[in-house]
Amino acid sequence: MADYHTHDDDEPLTGEDRDASIPADVLDAVRTLIRWAGDDPQREGLLDTPGRVARAWREYFRGYEEDPRDHLARTFEEVGGYDEIVLLRDIPFHSHCEHHMAPIIGKAHVAYLPRDRVVGISKLARVTQGYAKRLQVQERLTAEIADAIWDRLNPRGVAVVIEASHACMSARGVLKPGVTMTTSRMMGVFREDERAREEVLKLMGY
Ligand SMILES: [Zn+2]
Repeated sequence: MADYHTHDDDEPLTGEDRDASIPADVLDAVRTLIRWAGDDPQREGLLDTPGRVARAWREYFRGYEEDPRDHLARTFEEVGGYDEIVLLRDIPFHSHCEHHMAPIIGKAHVAYLPRDRVVGISKLARVTQGYAKRLQVQERLTAEIADAIWDRLNPRGVAVVIEASHACMSARGVLKPGVTMTTSRMMGVFREDERAREEVLKLMGY
């Protein structure tokens, strides 16, 4: 993987040069899938598609280039006695299911109850994106976000709820579009104390 460098999509490139930084076997793999779909990779409208797909994949899966936990490294211990729930609601994300490589599109609600430190609120979104931009199953995505916060912030509780639709179910298979799947992970006080759990779920809009 380390050899497959990101290609700047904004560069005005033409023809074969456009794909110079993308390994030939990656481009060939996309052509194979175009043929497998039933089309002709030499058709004019598809000539640049392998390069575009390859660059899009660097973006879809850029989460492999980072450890999302690193976003939680900088914490603030001066919290002014704040001891209530911190919640970031409706974090939009795009992921891909590891079974079909089909899009998972959804939103995450991420909350924690601080003990002695907090992070900048945008970091919760960055952690979510870092794990989403990988091949995933929704259950693991939910758990990884919660575990990262639990391990790095030593909070009194963590609550993560994710709602998402899976293209592998809505665009094929049995389920119609609009069906969403909900997963949650409750840790610490949100797992042990029913009232705390109810409070955070209410804040999330449930
Ligand atoms: Zn799937």
